[in-house]
Amino acid sequence: MRAVKSRDTGPELQLRRFLHRKGYRYNIHVSTLPGKPDLVFRSKRKVVFVNGCFWHGHKGCSRARIPKENSLFWTKKIDSNTKRDRENYATLRQLGWKTMIVWQCQLKDEYSNLTKVVEFLEE
Ligand SMILES: [Zn+2]
Repeated sequence: MRAVKSRDTGPELQLRRFLHRKGYRYNIHVSTLPGKPDLVFRSKRKVVFVNGCFWHGHKGCSRARIPKENSLFWTKKIDSNTKRDRENYATLRQLGWKTMIVWQCQLKDEYSNLTKVVEFLEE
């Protein structure tokens, strides 16, 4: 587990390089949109979030396990993160953006998950 919420993490960079090679162009970490989406495809009106499993509370994921120490603190913290995430996704939807969530653990070694993002962009 990383102690800080980091940007430009390995899996996210991997995804970005992959999409760039495929010819997609996008903006990253767009702070003017709810939740500051990691990748924004303006012309398609689609956004992709690359979520860290721990901070965004990936259900059932081994990387999202709450530490035994200070577990109440962490539970509350992650709950408020996921609540905020849901609100951001809902607001984006209302604004007409299509949203895809990619979990970091899914990007780790599975090529098929990269192509799922392409499918999302092309649908
Ligand atoms: Zn995960």
